[in-house]
Amino acid sequence: MDFKEILNEIAEETKELEGKGKVANYIPALAQVSGNQFGMALLAADGELFEWGDSQTNFSMQSISKVLTLTIAFREIGSEVWERVGREPSGNPFNSLIQLEKERGIPRNPFINAGALVISDILCSRFPNPKEVLLDFVQKRAQNTNIQYDKIVAQSEKEHGYLNSALVNYMKSFGNITNNPEEVLDLYFNQCSLSMNCVDLVKTFSFITHRGFDSNNKERILSRSRSKRLNALMLTCGMYDESGDFAFRVGMPGKSGVGGGIAATIPGKLTMAVWSPELNSFGNSLRGIKAMELFTTKTGMSIF
Ligand code: GLN
Repeated sequence: MDFKEILNEIAEETKELEGKGKVANYIPALAQVSGNQFGMALLAADGELFEWGDSQTNFSMQSISKVLTLTIAFREIGSEVWERVGREPSGNPFNSLIQLEKERGIPRNPFINAGALVISDILCSRFPNPKEVLLDFVQKRAQNTNIQYDKIVAQSEKEHGYLNSALVNYMKSFGNITNNPEEVLDLYFNQCSLSMNCVDLVKTFSFITHRGFDSNNKERILSRSRSKRLNALMLTCGMYDESGDFAFRVGMPGKSGVGGGIAATIPGKLTMAVWSPELNSFGNSLRGIKAMELFTTKTGMSIF
């Protein structure tokens, strides 16, 4: 399959979407990013890497980081995670508070903000310095020590993070947050601020494609069973209340972030990342989703 040519075609065919979405502006530091950037990277099973456009321009990982923190929590406490967070799609926006009252402080899944905050709480309990643990984990998977937290983005989100602060405090009132809310938020805002590019992303996510095994470092990260489960969660919950539509149109387990990145996988076959900062109304990259839809259509390679 000529992936290079396919990426060229996708770039051409999605160009018309430029200017049709909106860069996230509720985090002021993200509003500065120029909207017309577009990058793609693809890592095939044989290790061959294909890139297009702004594939090496760093952007804010935002919610894509939720897959990595869940991975670390999974390694630490295994299925005990499910005592604190569910594994059902929420059908609500990523930052919604509404289900938490009825469901007594147990978030629907680890990929909405409330769920990721519980995972952050778990990491705060397990490690004296969870930010260091996460950064090491990401740098190692991507084999890139230049990956860092973006202090400006983290600070900007902290200053405007009233909703995330409400979520964490609300869950604490139900006993589902054990640490100081400030500490939990600090890890959460920092994880979201991780600054990396599409090439870093495909390398970081390739252990998910290879059933839990990081072939770059020859290290097992998750068991096959847990890796399958992570894929299932990405498929059903990775795009918030657009997860069903993403499965319908694209057919890959994936995870998006409001920085405009999406990482996705076809298990056993390839890892793909796209970045285009303009978002649709669900907070997912408008051009990024279309690019992935075209990719699976042109290659016939969805998981189904
Ligand atoms: N940092 C963002 C927030 O908490 C992450 C959201 C996202 O990427 N969907 O609102």
